[in-house]
Amino acid sequence: MELVAKVAVDRATYRFDQPFDYRIPASLRDAAKPGCRVLVPFGKGGQRQGVLLAVGEPEDGTLSLKSLVQVLDPQPLLGEEMIRLVYWLKERYFCTLFEAVKLLLPGGLYWKVQPSYALAGPLAEESGLPDAGKQVIQYLQGKEKPVGAEKICRDLGLDPKSGLLEQLCTQGVLRKDIQAVRGIGDAACRMVSLTGQAKAGEPDRLTPRQKEVYRVLRDVGIASVKETCYFAGVTPAVVQGMVKRGILQITQQEVYRSPYSPPQELPQEEPLHLSPDQQEAFDTLRDAYDAHTGRTALLYGVTGSGKTWVFFRLIDFVLQQGEGVILMVPEISLTPQMVARFHRRYGRRVAVFHSGLSAGERLDEWKRVQRGEACIAIGTRSAVFAPFARLGLVILDEEQESSYKSEASPRFHAREVARFRCAYHKGLLLLASATPSVETFYAARQGKYTLAQLPCRYGQAQLPEVVIADLNREIPPGDPSVFGQSLARALAENLQAGRQSILLLNRRGYHTFVSCRACGEVLVCPSCSISLTYHAANRRLMCHYCGYSAPFTDECPHCHEHRVRYTGLGTQRAEEQLREMFPQARVLRMDADSTMSRFSYEKHLGAFAAGEYDILLGTQMVAKGLDFASVTLVGVLSADQMLYGDTFRSSERAFDLITQVVGRSGRGRLAGRAILQTFTPENPVLALAARQDYLSFYEGEIPFRKAMLYPPFADLVAVGFTGGHEEGVRQASHAFLWLLRDVAQREYPDLPLRVLQPSPALIAKISNKYRYRLLIKCRNTKRFRQMLSQLLKGFAEKREYSRITVWVDTSPEM
Ligand code: ADP
Ligand code: ZN
Repeated sequence: MELVAKVAVDRATYRFDQPFDYRIPASLRDAAKPGCRVLVPFGKGGQRQGVLLAVGEPEDGTLSLKSLVQVLDPQPLLGEEMIRLVYWLKERYFCTLFEAVKLLLPGGLYWKVQPSYALAGPLAEESGLPDAGKQVIQYLQGKEKPVGAEKICRDLGLDPKSGLLEQLCTQGVLRKDIQAVRGIGDAACRMVSLTGQAKAGEPDRLTPRQKEVYRVLRDVGIASVKETCYFAGVTPAVVQGMVKRGILQITQQEVYRSPYSPPQELPQEEPLHLSPDQQEAFDTLRDAYDAHTGRTALLYGVTGSGKTWVFFRLIDFVLQQGEGVILMVPEISLTPQMVARFHRRYGRRVAVFHSGLSAGERLDEWKRVQRGEACIAIGTRSAVFAPFARLGLVILDEEQESSYKSEASPRFHAREVARFRCAYHKGLLLLASATPSVETFYAARQGKYTLAQLPCRYGQAQLPEVVIADLNREIPPGDPSVFGQSLARALAENLQAGRQSILLLNRRGYHTFVSCRACGEVLVCPSCSISLTYHAANRRLMCHYCGYSAPFTDECPHCHEHRVRYTGLGTQRAEEQLREMFPQARVLRMDADSTMSRFSYEKHLGAFAAGEYDILLGTQMVAKGLDFASVTLVGVLSADQMLYGDTFRSSERAFDLITQVVGRSGRGRLAGRAILQTFTPENPVLALAARQDYLSFYEGEIPFRKAMLYPPFADLVAVGFTGGHEEGVRQASHAFLWLLRDVAQREYPDLPLRVLQPSPALIAKISNKYRYRLLIKCRNTKRFRQMLSQLLKGFAEKREYSRITVWVDTSPEM
């Protein structure tokens, strides 16, 4: 029997998505291997790219099948494991097969399918053609191969929608080909600067916004598109417009030869001497690995207990067996320290994956893993897809972190993908933390996971002494200070002693929100239901969700009184007060605003480690993972903002963050202390975090979870609805609820379910899209997902809701 290719096709809708069958023409029989990308006919006369998932028998004969057009890759990109993972991702996260494929491949590998054009033959007669047509002919005369439509239009300045190229085809002047072209580099590293002409003098007729951009770039020379928009307070469209006018130019930043430069020589492996506790933890974990059952283990160790040293020993052991290792860290800001430590030990055998790399860099690292040149992959959540042929160990450091969950479709959780991969390879999944998620610790307690513990700090280091500072007493009412007496005094002492301090303020910007003292109105973003934040650096009000910004004035847009004031506080204001109090102190502020450029984390933290700063002030990115021996004071400026969130995880998050930041203090030979400022000193979570008492926190949390039927006692699944009209979105969410009730009762009465009423999502509106959400407490089993998939497809058939986007999130960050 003739065999067919089963292909996952790009841009298929979820409702119809499945592997499509194609006939394999004789000419492609050798090339068509599973895991290769292919070009296939799809829809009316169109062609799309796809990935060949399998070669198999046709469903019902090959007569009606179309044929593969082209095989795009000489070698398969996806091996057997990755092809299985594609199916698994679709089943778990309700995405299409091709969306799953895209997740597995580095961005630089994408192909874009587009028409390309060449001259149809020698031309006799050009007259009668429009000028633009003649231009196209002239342009193509010099070319040997067909040229992509996009390139032709770009080079000649034609409107891609004009239809000119198509028209020339019908007239028999041009010949059309479908071509797959390599994707272009990452937009994140596009840099803008003034063109030579614009440098000579300010161009005429600039709009006020363009003037802002011009001024910013005249001052700084070159900046990323994102930074330029931030400081000028404009949207990327303004920058684009100026590029078109020849005022600005865009370049790919290429100054980084390679983001990291590991030593060329393979370093001498320093011998590792583990403490008795570390040795015991290692033995337990090695046994779990040696069992080769695809097991999960938890390494629960207080901050500073030396979890990394246990990792090292375990990694050495796994590498000796010829198997690869993936190590994930939650924040891109943590990679430099971790990578530096690993480079020192493992040299070029380390590959690095995170979103700060350019597409080309990511592609190269991906290839090094695939070719077996690198055997350790370190990075943020995308590192979980590192294409090892043999994988022995996956480590999730700080496993409770929400950044391991993707908030864009496919909404996967790196912990779950890691579990799939470890099960496939019979490797060990190691979760590590000083403050594990309640779910993980519960599983370890139940014996589902192997538990290894490090109860004490390594060596002489003691846990810091913690003071809870009651701001009700320390800051007189009406006083705008951010620093109470205790913290101010401790900072002064630390400066005097020449030691370093870390200050945590979990808010960006200068002040958190802006309100009118006359009418009480809080200024919110016109497109999102989010209060605007004042930024001192550019003197603008900004929305942190959509990037909207406006210059600050004290006039209220509602009552027009001039009484608009800031309230709350942010890193920028804290920095200002700090400089007033200690003019001689060298302060480094790190938050998402000050550290936007790609490798500034590394530079800044390096400078701090070298003692070039006295105080590091920042948002949660300074709270975790950093290991500086000379930091002896940690201050939390306001614990209250963390304690009172509106999700069932608020306490867990607050406990985690406070424990972690306190854990940055006194990690070396010097004793450390920490000061937690709060207006609610009686909150029990504070006292527990101060003592780093995870066990008591856990014991207190479990009954609440049980009573409320929250994880680990049920799974939570959210169905989200997004659309341009609030009423439509609300109706869709209710219609879905009815459908769910109906189908669950009739076809799935065996499933335990509790469905909550649909409600506006936490952020009810983003970029003018309204969002509703329906929460389901359930057991997230295969059968449950089968029901949900059926519901999604059924709902997609309803014409009246065709403009509403519906998505499923199986581990919602509530
Ligand atoms: P954790 O990740 O558990 O917070 P680290 O792995 O960063 O802790 O270790 C804390 C500190 O103790 C680091 O400075 C580390 O170099 C040191 N340390 C831990 N274990 C050892 C060891 N076995 N030998 C030497 N130094 C160690
Ligand atoms: Zn907004």
